[in-house]
Amino acid sequence: MDAFEYDTYPSRVVFGTGSLQKLPDELVRLNLTSPLLLSTPQQVDHVYQLKDVLSGNIAGVFTEATMHTPTHITDRALAYVKETKADSVVSIGGGSTIGLGKAISIRMSLPHICIPTTYAGSEMTPILGETTEGRKTTRSDPKILPGTVIYDVELTMTLPTGMSATSGVNAIAHAVEALYARNTNPIVNLLALEGIRALAESLPKIVENPSDTAARTSAQYGAWLCGTCLGSVGMALHHKLCHTLGGSFNLPHAETHTIVLPHALAYNAPRIPDVMAKLANVLPGSDGDAVKGLNLLLARLKVKRGLREFGMKEEDVSKAAEIAVSNPYWNPREIEMEPLKETIRRCWAGEEAK
Ligand code: NAD
Repeated sequence: MDAFEYDTYPSRVVFGTGSLQKLPDELVRLNLTSPLLLSTPQQVDHVYQLKDVLSGNIAGVFTEATMHTPTHITDRALAYVKETKADSVVSIGGGSTIGLGKAISIRMSLPHICIPTTYAGSEMTPILGETTEGRKTTRSDPKILPGTVIYDVELTMTLPTGMSATSGVNAIAHAVEALYARNTNPIVNLLALEGIRALAESLPKIVENPSDTAARTSAQYGAWLCGTCLGSVGMALHHKLCHTLGGSFNLPHAETHTIVLPHALAYNAPRIPDVMAKLANVLPGSDGDAVKGLNLLLARLKVKRGLREFGMKEEDVSKAAEIAVSNPYWNPREIEMEPLKETIRRCWAGEEAK
């Protein structure tokens, strides 16, 4: 076994059907009495469900969370925190709402309880991405990591099928890159393979039957493990590419991750034979070929395969490759212009990865 270093951060996870009902106990445990509840405008019903669970004992409700955590929204939320004298924030939603919770928590040193309703995994990371006037900056600080996370499968039952599929593949992408991260370690490998296995088995069942509670529970368990991977080790080509594509061409987060993952893996495959073999073992129908396994998974999930379906132009392929090449970062395979451009072209065109 190679030498390794392993960091772990304190975070409490409460997992299980109906665990939302434990929120009052979690607040008591932390000696908190006046939380501000956060959501997007689309999840107002969820936030009012929280208010009921807390019998109305809250500082207030802020339902303006939105994609990319814009700082002008954070500023509005901060003013409301001060006005209501909230002693904590409770975010219910996906990465967008959790991002707002992190942005408030780090600025005001307030405890943050997170109740995730997608599979994106932000709740398990000390990372915060924010945008000011369209420019995205990302920072990492252990204090950004939410202290308590409540996973209640019932809150994921309303996640639309398409979003469930792409959000689940977004989670798988964290674990795939954790397997070949420069600072990977044996614990993260266990979490990554178990997370991918759980999601690869459950996501097709959710697409077939969105009310399959057992599959939804397994997907949420997988998402937790994959999110932990994202929070523990560095990411490489896949995440950098998605960051570039999302930021420069305004492409949707989970859908972009879904399209890029098999292609990024195919790019790296020649340099990571051991990882490819381990991955193939946890991807059903792969016949020993992890890229084939991912292609098959995406076909079963009936997701869109081409970035052009989301408005990316063919001439943006070269631009994306130039941005990715001009921004050096660690990757198991050297970042070379022509092969990378071909990888991005395949993502744009919606071709199968090979
Ligand atoms: P999202 O939070 O943007 O949610 C998408 C939409 O789905 C929103 O309208 C939301 O209200 C709705 N939604 C969420 N859960 C639902 C449910 N159960 N039922 C019905 N509707 C629901 O999407 P996301 O993919 O979770 O998050 C993406 C954002 O999170 C991106 O900005 C990304 O950069 C960020 N992110 C950050 C990290 C990190 O570690 N910092 C990790 C992953 C994602």
